[in-house]
Amino acid sequence: MKISFHGAAKTVTGSKHLISLSNNEEILLDCGMFQGLDLDSRSLNKVFGFDPKSIDYLILSHAHIDHSGLIPKLVKDGFKGPIYSTTATFDLCTIMLMDSAMIQEADARFLNKKNEFKTPLIEPLYDKEDVDNCLKQFVCLNYNQAFKINDHIEVLLTDNGHILGSASINLKIKEKNKTTHLTYTGDIGRYKSALLKDPTPFPQADIIICESTYGDRLHEKYEHAEQEILNTIIETCVNKKGKVIIPAFSLGRTQEIVYSLNKLNLYGLLPDIKIFVDSPLAVNATNIMRKYALSLNDDVQQLIKSSPDPFGFDYLTYINDKRESQALNNKEGPFILISSAGMAEAGRIKHHLMNTLEDKKNCILLVGFAEGKSLAGRLINGEKKVNIYGNELDVNATVKVINSLSAHADYEEIIRYLSCQDISKVLELFLVHGDPDVQFAFKKRLKYEGFKKIIIPSINDQFYI
Ligand SMILES: [Zn+2]
Ligand SMILES: [Zn+2]
Repeated sequence: MKISFHGAAKTVTGSKHLISLSNNEEILLDCGMFQGLDLDSRSLNKVFGFDPKSIDYLILSHAHIDHSGLIPKLVKDGFKGPIYSTTATFDLCTIMLMDSAMIQEADARFLNKKNEFKTPLIEPLYDKEDVDNCLKQFVCLNYNQAFKINDHIEVLLTDNGHILGSASINLKIKEKNKTTHLTYTGDIGRYKSALLKDPTPFPQADIIICESTYGDRLHEKYEHAEQEILNTIIETCVNKKGKVIIPAFSLGRTQEIVYSLNKLNLYGLLPDIKIFVDSPLAVNATNIMRKYALSLNDDVQQLIKSSPDPFGFDYLTYINDKRESQALNNKEGPFILISSAGMAEAGRIKHHLMNTLEDKKNCILLVGFAEGKSLAGRLINGEKKVNIYGNELDVNATVKVINSLSAHADYEEIIRYLSCQDISKVLELFLVHGDPDVQFAFKKRLKYEGFKKIIIPSINDQFYI
């Protein structure tokens, strides 16, 4: 068989790994979008590097757009086969891909207007109808139940603890007299995360495709984050009567913060301050998290006994309506506001930052990954002047960063995840989903652990197994 890498190769986004069998069958693992502020992302998303019509099966590790975001385009361009994922991933894809289509359409409108409608007009990568079409091709699987795709390909999804529904993909492929066990880890989550169960072991593999996002870093423990959030609220909202503004990804990070605030509230530690979650996507994502509340970790089950809704409590209001969101601009502090997008490059958070950055009473609390050039990234880097919608603003508010809330395993956690394997049986390990410097550091670490053949593929590289 042949493995080729068409995204997340020496970079983080755009995950697409293609397995081509000797009988010409093709299995695609993930169909993610390249994300980023560079111009390259747009052109990279236009070409797959393979023919969508020749793909027989797509298996999806999780609903994040850097893994799922080009599925509607894959279907639009001719892929007709089944898309295997967990049920929660399917539910999340329904909202994430629809949101992505709306962003595509809005971006195209904006760029065409900026280009004064010069032809050729910029087309969105796909629209809502394409999303509806691709959703019909999903086939949902349970964790830990092997599924025979046909008489020679079997798939097993195991929980990797990254986000709701996320899975490692374990394939058993028979070709002539040979059986190959191939595992693609997807994005690996944390041990002892706020909401999710720990990643579970996966069956012995001959070939592993492993993520490496934080292959050079150790995270602080999650409990630190809760204490820091509480300290920030007391300093800003109680002492200064200011506003705490939290840019957060709608799926995952928003629910983690809300859950932590709920816990602090139940323990009697949270002051009586109003909290707003302002993001339609976060409202939808939270509803899906509620639907799967019983599959979350023991800590959540414990909390549900005294507070049936882990994502709802007094003082907390979810905002969907645009006018209610705009009304927050004129509202006096103190209050806490969680809004998307996480990197503050798009979405309602930009308006909220524009209205709060210049007042030194306020605090901008940054809790997620942000590219250096993004608005959140520039704030993390300590820039004292930023431009939002053409307005030059002085950053007088306090900017605070919490690094312990990552949804990705650090290097010790990845090694712990891989420790279920007999390393001597792993013939090849491919590192994907990481920046090159990080990957080279992690490769050394894995060599030290005993992995023999570690490969860092570049985009469109092919390997015969
Ligand atoms: Zn992810
Ligand atoms: Zn990812």
